[in-house]
Amino acid sequence: MVRKNQRQIGAPAILALLLALCCQAAAGDERKQLAFEVVDRNAEQMALISDSIFYLGELGMQELESTRLLQQTLEAAGFKVELGGAGMPTNLWAEWGSGRPKIAIVTEVDALPGGSQAPGEFERKPLLAGAPGHMEGHNIHGGVASMAAFAVKEVMARDHIAGTIAISFGPAEEQLASRPFLARAGYFKDVDAVIYLHIGPWLATGYGLQNYAAISSIFTFHGKTAHGAVNPWDGRDAVDAVELMDIGFDKLREHLRPSYRAHRTITNGGIQPNIIADTGQIWWFVRDASMPAAKETYDKLVKIAEGAALMTGTGWDVKYAASAWPQLGNKAIAEAIQRNIGLVGMPKWTDEDQRFARDFQKSAERPVVGLRTEPMALGSRAQSTSSNDNGDVSWIVPAGIFNFPSSVPGIEYHEWHAAITPVGPISHKGQVTGAKVLAASIIDLMTTPDALASARVEFLEESAKTPYFALLPPDVQPSIDLNRAEMEKYRGAMQKFYLNKSPRFN
Ligand SMILES: [Zn+2]
Repeated sequence: MVRKNQRQIGAPAILALLLALCCQAAAGDERKQLAFEVVDRNAEQMALISDSIFYLGELGMQELESTRLLQQTLEAAGFKVELGGAGMPTNLWAEWGSGRPKIAIVTEVDALPGGSQAPGEFERKPLLAGAPGHMEGHNIHGGVASMAAFAVKEVMARDHIAGTIAISFGPAEEQLASRPFLARAGYFKDVDAVIYLHIGPWLATGYGLQNYAAISSIFTFHGKTAHGAVNPWDGRDAVDAVELMDIGFDKLREHLRPSYRAHRTITNGGIQPNIIADTGQIWWFVRDASMPAAKETYDKLVKIAEGAALMTGTGWDVKYAASAWPQLGNKAIAEAIQRNIGLVGMPKWTDEDQRFARDFQKSAERPVVGLRTEPMALGSRAQSTSSNDNGDVSWIVPAGIFNFPSSVPGIEYHEWHAAITPVGPISHKGQVTGAKVLAASIIDLMTTPDALASARVEFLEESAKTPYFALLPPDVQPSIDLNRAEMEKYRGAMQKFYLNKSPRFN
């Protein structure tokens, strides 16, 4: 009797639960449709933000005009914007909503030195010779991040969804120069999840270690000047120390893990041959697949500097320049992103887009494969050997990694070819796809407490395997003069390319 009653009560309860789940899914789908409509309606404004930032072409820590444009656009769209936090004038943090859950988009808008290039031209044709430019496509991160956040905001406002949507545009990603400072300033303390956004030739997400750890330090040796011919015995040559450090590290290379990377540039090699140099300087990057491994190599490098100073009777010091933990991609968030990648799909490339891509690949002497037509499968990417300072954030808060297809396969970043497409139709179509997947994924995280909870559980497990330690010395301040002289050299002459428009979302 009791059993029968239970069955009688049980069936409607299950039915109600199924209905609730079904309605929840339907509500989620409907919200995403609204977000997609907002993106489609504002696609031109998004492209205008990205194109404007392309022509501003600002180097890291000097993204003054770019962040001003983003600030004005986001404030007009109802966001609260803080510019200049953590001691960096071009650090932008924007928020809409209140309380938890709090989901942040993390990205950057800096350009690269010497990257000026007329878009759409296959020949090397700088807009302004020697000037900086977007030869990676960070300019489009500005449009996509703002667009996605606005679309999420529209959905949250209509449905009275509790929580906060935030965007972090960190300065100087190309020099790995800001995120450890953002972490130290506590920006991610009350954030439940972040999604890191980056241009790619593919539509993809991933989990586990995505890229490399890096430590960047500048070693300076201090000697004593003397006439190179008359009394060299009175001198102590700081450039000798630089050379010995270089040779010393080359001797070490054989004994390092195959996964390591180390590269250097001599930033002060003396003045002229007949003056024994009292100053010599060498700038090193050391990388590895994990931060403890990179740190182990770095500690050996420091001992080599000590030895080089001892051999030459010079003094020395080392200055922290930058560091980056490898990005730790969260699988639960990646799965949410992948579902939305499946929902949105690749952009509909036209024959003209494909023809342009193939002509471009041919002219750049790359495999002529055209544009990708399918998203990447989840978990199909190998750990890359490059680094990004947002890696630190992924050891503090669960992080999703998301690439959207706005560049041409085979065209590597950090060379001028990559500055040909960031403002063309391929980029613009990729941005629409990127903003939709990003908005839909944030809506999922914002409205599905279970998804955030499993992301947190996984994060605690995975991050405990390699306990995070900060590389940033406690007394170090951000290098806000970074790239200033270089930027000021060109900024005036670059102004004639500015679009001078005010993008507005509606
Ligand atoms: Zn980048």
